[in-house]
Amino acid sequence: MRHALDTQSPVCVIGAGIMGAGIAQVAAQAGHPVQLHDARDGAALAALRRLATGLDALVAKGRLSAEAAQATLARITPATSIDAAAGARLVVEAIVEQAEAKRTLFAQLEAIVDADCVLASNTSSISITALARDLRHPGRCVGLHFFNPVPVMKLVEVVSGLRTEPSVAQAVFALSERWRKTPVHARSTPGFIVNRIARPYYAETLALLQERAAEPAVLDACLRGAGFRMGPCELMDLIGHDTNFAVTASVHDANFGDRRYGPSLVQRELVDGGLLGRKSGRGFYDHA
Ligand code: NAD
Repeated sequence: MRHALDTQSPVCVIGAGIMGAGIAQVAAQAGHPVQLHDARDGAALAALRRLATGLDALVAKGRLSAEAAQATLARITPATSIDAAAGARLVVEAIVEQAEAKRTLFAQLEAIVDADCVLASNTSSISITALARDLRHPGRCVGLHFFNPVPVMKLVEVVSGLRTEPSVAQAVFALSERWRKTPVHARSTPGFIVNRIARPYYAETLALLQERAAEPAVLDACLRGAGFRMGPCELMDLIGHDTNFAVTASVHDANFGDRRYGPSLVQRELVDGGLLGRKSGRGFYDHA
């Protein structure tokens, strides 16, 4: 099977939230025609508007030409149906962090795309081996894990499951480099590399908050003072507490309930209260 990808290859991004919008921007900046689909009415169009605002700001700061900003936006088409994936050489899903939802989506996509189209998941923690299990062509399924904010962060984890074809992992690795990212290969273990190491960091932060040891702003100031670019609470507000909670639960579950990865009541309270962080206007901090 031919899996080579170039910067003219049509790309489809499914899920137009924080990550999907950023992935669409980076792909379009590299030259790909991009279809951007979200199950929620109007979400893809709203993402395009957010991208336009962000690109305008870069133009105003002199970091991007107005022509380049316009060309990037012109390459992204908001799509109301996943049928827009037909003809794509690469589909990147960035939907909710739930294994069943991602598996269902991949099954639907297999009925639409060509047999050699690569199906990539931006999952933070879910097993790529498990996501590929029911596919007719499991070798095409690979993890392509970007970091937030996608246009800024260089690192990309290229995650291989048990049945990922090496040519697929190599193709998306090479493509990420053409997207000016710094990819690394990882095997499909719970949380891969960064989230495996980061989970206990968030867990200790949340334990300190639950013990009322200090306010979020104090914890953030301490960790920034220790050299971190962001403190853990502002970082969790950036990620989104719904997504972060789902990732914690997934890594905990995949590690057979190992208490080092346990989710926190503080996280669940924030999610239950709709205090999801920047994306809802409020989390640990007020972002309105
Ligand atoms: P988000 O909540 O901002 O966006 C998810 C979007 O997916 C929503 O717009 C939702 O309407 C849409 N969606 C849900 N189910 C769908 C379906 N079946 N079909 C089409 N659209 C659907 O979430 P996010 O932060 O962008 O995270 C998306 C994925 O990226 C998750 O797997 C997450 O773990 C991963 N990720 C997130 C971050 C982060 O910092 N937020 C970082 C790396 C990876």
